[in-house]
Amino acid sequence: MRYLIANWKMNLPPEGMEGWMSAVAREDPRDVTLVFAPPFPFLRDAFSQRRSVSLAAQNCNDHASGAYTGEVAPSMLRYCGAEYVILGHSERRNIYGEDDALIAKKLSIAIETGLKPILCIGENLSVRDEGRVATFLEEQIKATAVPELERAPEIVIAYEPVWAIGTGRNASGAMVAETMVDIRRALSTHWPFHASRAPILYGGSVTPDNVDDLVANGTIDGFLVGGASLDSAKFLAIHRGMR
Ligand code: PEP
Repeated sequence: MRYLIANWKMNLPPEGMEGWMSAVAREDPRDVTLVFAPPFPFLRDAFSQRRSVSLAAQNCNDHASGAYTGEVAPSMLRYCGAEYVILGHSERRNIYGEDDALIAKKLSIAIETGLKPILCIGENLSVRDEGRVATFLEEQIKATAVPELERAPEIVIAYEPVWAIGTGRNASGAMVAETMVDIRRALSTHWPFHASRAPILYGGSVTPDNVDDLVANGTIDGFLVGGASLDSAKFLAIHRGMR
């Protein structure tokens, strides 16, 4: 199965959520699972308006309930209609200091709660320049090899090089294809249950202009899109580019 995920982060587009959702509802998803990750307060409305999209939360807390002011529990996200949850996004890692240990806890509780995790991994520029991408990604995968993985029917991996997120500088299709091989190898060592079946998406400045190059070698199972997903026309143009 291929995926196309819209991550709005903490943004709302000029066309509004209703406008965006009705434009996306007119599209035939074909063999692509369309996933929409709006900010938390919009999940309930999105759930009642949705037709062809599944919903994702952009984050969750690592506890089931308790004195965690400002946080949202995985079960509450399910109540709001979320089927997926994005975990380990580089903005959570870098701005909010989330480390692999915390992400592993979130992964466990998300699986226990029945949310399907979309786990983001990716290197920063210095790691790439030093030729350490494969070992760096393997460490991220190893650190999140929680026992609950064996009970998770569906896990999506999003390879998102940090230097490509929101920068307008995307990885080339050839570079992503090479990295996919490294990720599959690390999965077979540390996540054997999901090694051959977890879809691996690419994220990082994907636009209608670069989607052709990214899909050309056929190794990418879809995209996690930030900035370009805020415009339904661009989001749907990326979808059409996945043909
Ligand atoms: C993202 O939010 O995960 C992302 C890839 O953002 P952008 O497409 O804007 O680079």
